[in-house]
Amino acid sequence: MSFNELGLSPHILRAVKELGYEQATPIQQQAIPAILAGQDVLGGAQTGTGKTAGFTLPMLHRLLANHGRGGRRQVRALILTPTRELAAQVGESIIKYANHLPFRTLIAYGGVSIKPNLEAIKLGVDILVATPGRLLDLLTQRALTLTELEVLVLDEADRMLDMGFITDIRRIMKALPEERQTLLFSATFSDEIKALADDLLKSPTLIEVSPSNSTAEQVNQRVIKVDRERKRELLSHMIGRGNWQRVLVFVRTKLIADRLAQQMVKDGLNTVAIHGDKTQGARNRALADFREGKVRVLVATDIAARGLDIDLLPHVINFELPQVAEDYIHRIGRTGRAGRGGEAISLVSLDELDQLKAIESLIGQSLPSEIQEGYEPSGKVTRQSLPSNKPIQNRDRGGHVNAKHNVKARANAAKEKPAARGKPAAKPKPKADGSKAAAPARQKERVGEDTGFAPMRRLPRAQRDGYQDNSNEE
Ligand code: AMP
Repeated sequence: MSFNELGLSPHILRAVKELGYEQATPIQQQAIPAILAGQDVLGGAQTGTGKTAGFTLPMLHRLLANHGRGGRRQVRALILTPTRELAAQVGESIIKYANHLPFRTLIAYGGVSIKPNLEAIKLGVDILVATPGRLLDLLTQRALTLTELEVLVLDEADRMLDMGFITDIRRIMKALPEERQTLLFSATFSDEIKALADDLLKSPTLIEVSPSNSTAEQVNQRVIKVDRERKRELLSHMIGRGNWQRVLVFVRTKLIADRLAQQMVKDGLNTVAIHGDKTQGARNRALADFREGKVRVLVATDIAARGLDIDLLPHVINFELPQVAEDYIHRIGRTGRAGRGGEAISLVSLDELDQLKAIESLIGQSLPSEIQEGYEPSGKVTRQSLPSNKPIQNRDRGGHVNAKHNVKARANAAKEKPAARGKPAAKPKPKADGSKAAAPARQKERVGEDTGFAPMRRLPRAQRDGYQDNSNEE
């Protein structure tokens, strides 16, 4: 379906055209008419489906229709996101879609000075993209009122709850007018999400783009069974053999991210790790280098990778399966974005078979599984060992590499500290062999806004400090 058929303002269609979008994605086809009609929406869609334009384009249309009414400039649309990187990404998308509209947009998140936010608010803000903590700070300082709010969007609501933001969200809701349009997006629907949706949404239209007919279908997913302590060797080998130039690798903990990145460098692969303990500058640099092709392998923890929008990311590797099955969907959503194909390979060791089962039941399909010659699993369960630190040869030129056998695993990987804030870590799951749980609870990074990125590339002058003033378009 073309965007022209959806009844959007020509100013919005112009921006869409400039971005090169030709056809509306399935979520856009469903969400745009419902939101234009003023309905509340409960959307089941993950990143990569075109969800941001799905809620932003009709939201902008409605804001435009009522533009100029009322006196003082107040926030009319609020988009709440769980992390800084998602706020930055969604905010930048909104700024692009609103390129020809007379709105002022502010992206506000914690971990950076609040002063530019306060200055921007004084100038006037129509659309606010914020993380819950920073928004509460602004509300507590009485820098902002939300009494004129027309549209509320909760993006990645499951992640917000997962990160312990429920109390913050409920506090924010008290500052909002009853009469408003509410759009709630979530990749998954737990009972907690359903309860939140019941509270916040009025007779919502349900829009669902299931993984099986969106991202997951465009992504070629497979499992390679391999001993845990041989995963790193196999990974380096695959990158070299396939001459892959841009690979995102997921691990569960910061410690493993760092260790794996070090080892990959020793293997001759230019690799950088990103996680919640890295400074903002280091993360931005890593990401920019990865985008520009200076860094070939980016190793990331789940939260650090949240909201990353990297064009042309053909390979995503699950070095370890996520403890929480839903994260698998988020991870593989990094590749195969908006119609482009991609490959997601999970390196699965014997101790991860339970997690694999949980993932397969969540996505409703069993993943094809294979064994690589020279990396056959030994049948022994080793748990939580760090990646082997034995370097293997440089394969940056795509050369064949001899597999090194019998590299001893390092037992008892150090566990990361539990989350500093938010709900306690999840209970450990029982082992595959039925014995008492030894797997660590979900390794959370520092929760909340501290885990994100600043806007990922240098913004034009008007957009610095996350503020874009387009009011001269009036
Ligand atoms: P999202 O799911 O909102 O994170 O969008 C994923 C990616 O798809 C972003 O890079 C968007 O710019 C892109 N995108 C969104 N809608 C379309 C569309 N209709 N056609 C082509 N690309 C799109």
